[in-house]
Amino acid sequence: MSKILVFSEFQNNNLKRSSQELLQFAAKSGAESVIGFSLGSQAGANAAQMAHHGATEIHLSKDAGFDAYNPELFSAAAAEAIQKTGATIILASASALGKDLFPRVAAKLSCGVVSDGVEITIVGDDVKVKKPLYSGKCFATAAFENSSVKIVLMRANQLPVVAADTTKTANITEHNFAKPNLKTLIKEIVKGTSEKLDLTEANIIISGGRGLKEAGNFKMLNDLADVLGATVGATRAVVDAGWVGHSMQVGQTGKTVAPSLYIAVGLSGAIQHLAGMSGSKVIVAINSDANAPIFQKATYGIVGDAFEIIPKLTEEFKKALHG
Ligand SMILES: Cc1cc2nc3c(=O)[nH]c(=O)nc-3n(C[C@H](O)[C@H](O)[C@H](O)COP(=O)(O)OP(=O)(O)OC[C@H]3O[C@@H](n4cnc5c(N)ncnc54)[C@H](O)[C@@H]3O)c2cc1C
Repeated sequence: MSKILVFSEFQNNNLKRSSQELLQFAAKSGAESVIGFSLGSQAGANAAQMAHHGATEIHLSKDAGFDAYNPELFSAAAAEAIQKTGATIILASASALGKDLFPRVAAKLSCGVVSDGVEITIVGDDVKVKKPLYSGKCFATAAFENSSVKIVLMRANQLPVVAADTTKTANITEHNFAKPNLKTLIKEIVKGTSEKLDLTEANIIISGGRGLKEAGNFKMLNDLADVLGATVGATRAVVDAGWVGHSMQVGQTGKTVAPSLYIAVGLSGAIQHLAGMSGSKVIVAINSDANAPIFQKATYGIVGDAFEIIPKLTEEFKKALHG
């Protein structure tokens, strides 16, 4: 039987949905133990959340030196934690941090790492991961060979999450991880201004394209997003035009998202855009051109002018959801 370690990420001291997914999945996998692992001065205060989502053991360091992500520091600590706990399967989110950190950890431990998982099965120590290739044009199933530790980075929103069970508890072990001689120092992290949920974590996304005509018209999408509790995304065309920031770009050279609902407004559905959002569960396309490629991917399509349709949708959702 395997021990599964879940590298848990927090945003504003809340366990990210992607980490909730992994802990809950690990808890159902029949593992001998589910180890919640987190680093930083808030790790102790946040530990209970990992237990509520299924961690049976928690390993952490409250060292404030981990408050800012430093690849050298984090990879040394993660490798040490894996060795000390005897975990053989490591689950983490295929977030920017996860993708930077875990190839380094894999190199330290001489083990395999599979990134961008969209499906995973664990039977005993056997791990299989389905992942997209060539910008989602096809899928591969990856397995591990001769790897005593198996690291899997899963995309967010691929696994179900149920409400936290706040009665669950876990044993907590605090570590003093050895610190390597650092070759790089993080001096400052400048956070983005958005208060909204990051696109990769969002359950509902409304993305706008060039059909919105100008930057100011994104207000229309923001209004609908406020009513639906959604996050607003964009195509590269509008990011390149300077209408919105790059952090909002969905696609091959932007973010990969897989929300429950993706509303594509005034965007054509270029292959590079689809690469970032075709894993969405329900896709609604609104486009004035009935032949736009996005309709081939859409679950529901509305052929029409976004400037007429979006305000109407906003009004109707306001009535339906907020009385
Ligand atoms: C290497 C590379 C990487 C790339 N990476 C990305 C990426 O990560 N993400 C990305 O998005 N793109 C990416 N692109 C760009 C991509 O090829 C497209 O150019 C881009 O996605 C098009 O953006 P768009 O759909 O907003 O614009 P357009 O293709 O111009 O589509 C605008 C759409 O709006 C519709 N429309 C117009 N008026 C209205 C209206 N009033 N109401 C409703 N609909 C209306 C039109 O019918 C049209 O379908 C990349 C390209 C390359 C070469």
